[in-house]
Amino acid sequence: MKIPVVRDILEVNDRIANEHRELFRKNNLLVLNLTSAPGAGKTALLEHTIGHLKETIRIGVIEGDIQSSADAERILRAGAVAVQINTDGACHLDANMIKAALPAINIEETDLLFIENVGNLVCPAEFDLGENYKVMILSVAEGDDKPEKYPLMFHEASVLLINKIDLLPYVNCDMNKIRETVLKINPNIAIFEISCQTKEGLHNWFQWVSDHIKT
Ligand code: MG
Ligand code: ZN
Repeated sequence: MKIPVVRDILEVNDRIANEHRELFRKNNLLVLNLTSAPGAGKTALLEHTIGHLKETIRIGVIEGDIQSSADAERILRAGAVAVQINTDGACHLDANMIKAALPAINIEETDLLFIENVGNLVCPAEFDLGENYKVMILSVAEGDDKPEKYPLMFHEASVLLINKIDLLPYVNCDMNKIRETVLKINPNIAIFEISCQTKEGLHNWFQWVSDHIKT
């Protein structure tokens, strides 16, 4: 009897993701898969990033949400090309959904593609979309125990943005504890402390993106 259903899903996913990676490489496209819990500030970060970089590079965004196109509308207003994927209940994006969205992005004419994943710290860590890097946001309002509760996401991410640091005086969040736990899980991760509200620290993130754009 054969029951490895979940493994089959991931194998099919990884095959499509590898095709994407090859396509992105051929087109010199930097692709960032942005993950976080709901409400951590993914779309706000994208608005700032687009506002800062749109004069120098061409940016596209694939927006994943269970429902609505509210975030894609924000991205369009910020000045980037946006495609909305509604997952219809699914709590993550998979490579096949990205495949369906890619024709709406002119990737030959794009330098940077963001994939804003569904707000969820669990399965987005498991699904390779063909991206170059996973970038995750943790907001200080979520508390400092997220890394020990959701280690896989922190392990898979290449960049951790700790957002909403303007709220630190009002929340019970130990930044040293976050750093220590995260670096134990993933010693190579880049960590930036930011506030999308006050814009504090965002220049470090913009610099990281600029340094990784392919020429
Ligand atoms: Mg969003
Ligand atoms: Zn899921």
